Amino acid sequence: MIFAGDSAHVVSPFGGPGGNGGLQDVDALGWRQAAVIKGQASAALLAAYDRERCFGADENLLNSSRSTRFMSPAAGAERLFRDAVLALTARADFARPMVNSGRLSRPCIYPVGGPDDPALPADSRPGAVAPDAPLADSWLSKA
Ligand SMILES: Cc1cc2nc3c(=O)[nH]c(=O)nc-3n(C[C@H](O)[C@H](O)[C@H](O)COP(=O)(O)OP(=O)(O)OC[C@H]3O[C@@H](n4cnc5c(N)ncnc54)[C@H](O)[C@@H]3O)c2cc1C
Repeated sequence: MIFAGDSAHVVSPFGGPGGNGGLQDVDALGWRQAAVIKGQASAALLAAYDRERCFGADENLLNSSRSTRFMSPAAGAERLFRDAVLALTARADFARPMVNSGRLSRPCIYPVGGPDDPALPADSRPGAVAPDAPLADSWLSKA
């Protein structure tokens, strides 16, 4: 049985990219299923879908849980810190990324051999936005 989208993971709607995660699931699953059906790969390829998207779902759940707790903190220290950050944002630039960290709009960058794999820098791993690069008379992003 293979699950994708909300049937595999339900993310808090408070900033949680559940729909985006579902699309990434079917993207990661579709090409693998096509390769297996066409006989170009063995069914073992589907196991990588599980590893890849469990990693992506865990990341979404972590980020959306943090974002939900920021919006509705527990009473006590959590609310105290949240309110202090909100008060600071009006006058201190360094506090603004604490409100909008950008995590929810960053792509999921997959570990290659495991979360601490040093083999590839983060910006050239699967899932990362390709870094810009110079061409003969232009830049990759402008081509
Ligand atoms: C308030 C709110 C805000 C959100 N905001 C965002 C956002 O900003 N960004 C984002 O990325 N995500 C957001 N999400 C999450 C996103 O909407 C879901 O993650 C996404 O719609 C899930 O898509 P899905 O196809 O997996 O499941 P669903 O959209 O739930 O589709 C499942 C379908 O299967 C049908 N179905 C169920 N049982 C059966 C059956 N037995 N037989 C046939 N059909 C069946 C259902 O009727 C439904 O049409 C938000 C969610 C909520 C609730």
